[in-house]
Amino acid sequence: MPLLYYWTANNREWDLNYGASFHLNQKNALLHGIEPGESLWVFTRRADGTYTMAAELLIRARTRNPETYRYGTYRVWGDLEQSRYFNIEHLPNAEPIIRALSCTSNAAILGQSFQGNAAVKQITTSDDALLRSFCRDFPSDARAKLLPEDELEAALMTDNPDRVRELIRVTYADESHQNRMQRLQETIATRSRQHVLELRDIYDGCCQLCAWSPRETYGSDICEAHHIHWISRGGTDALSNLVLVCPNHHRAIHRFDAPFDWADNAFQLGGTREALMLQKHPLMPVER
Ligand SMILES: [Zn+2]
Ligand SMILES: [Zn+2]
Repeated sequence: MPLLYYWTANNREWDLNYGASFHLNQKNALLHGIEPGESLWVFTRRADGTYTMAAELLIRARTRNPETYRYGTYRVWGDLEQSRYFNIEHLPNAEPIIRALSCTSNAAILGQSFQGNAAVKQITTSDDALLRSFCRDFPSDARAKLLPEDELEAALMTDNPDRVRELIRVTYADESHQNRMQRLQETIATRSRQHVLELRDIYDGCCQLCAWSPRETYGSDICEAHHIHWISRGGTDALSNLVLVCPNHHRAIHRFDAPFDWADNAFQLGGTREALMLQKHPLMPVER
């Protein structure tokens, strides 16, 4: 069941400037009806008032947020390779196409048909095909480019600000990414290395996934802090966004861009689901 979602201009700007998350959260259970491999189409309203297509998330996984999460219970994860965020600057008006789709959108102002719970609507496979052909050659928004998160985390862990700056510079060399670069610098500048130490303290240096204790085995701390919501995709450096994992698990999490389910604190590692064995500090998705 493909879906169509209306993304407000403000939220779109925020997402692209702080790190394209390739996620969507909603209260509406329709969001959980989408199957991996199906598309979630996103449209927005440009500053000149024109409605344009904004993104296609090719769904890779569905997970749940904690019950108390105020941006909704359901979360979908877009495939990093196949999802697209469009540069909307010169895109054609999408309103005639959206109004012609099977979902109801008959309000005088199109966006009003997509408010609150109705922001996400089910569309048919022929609607999906129509949108795919309409958006086929749309250019990408370069701000959606991702930093190599594992290298970024490694540079942060070893307190190597020159390497962090270099990663940012190489990824966002273009002038048009100034905003994105600036926001990222702010995010990273407020990062606290103290969190790694706090986690090692809480878990005696053990991996939260397999409970392996390098302290016991080697008398040394080698478990690492991982940001569940990647920093390069808008994640924050809050303790509630961090888990302590062994280097093997950390590598696997990055290799699979492992979706995390906050309902049972489990990572999806390829075809295997692994829940945290050690869980003593509360985890909460980034609020956005
Ligand atoms: Zn482990
Ligand atoms: Zn990590």
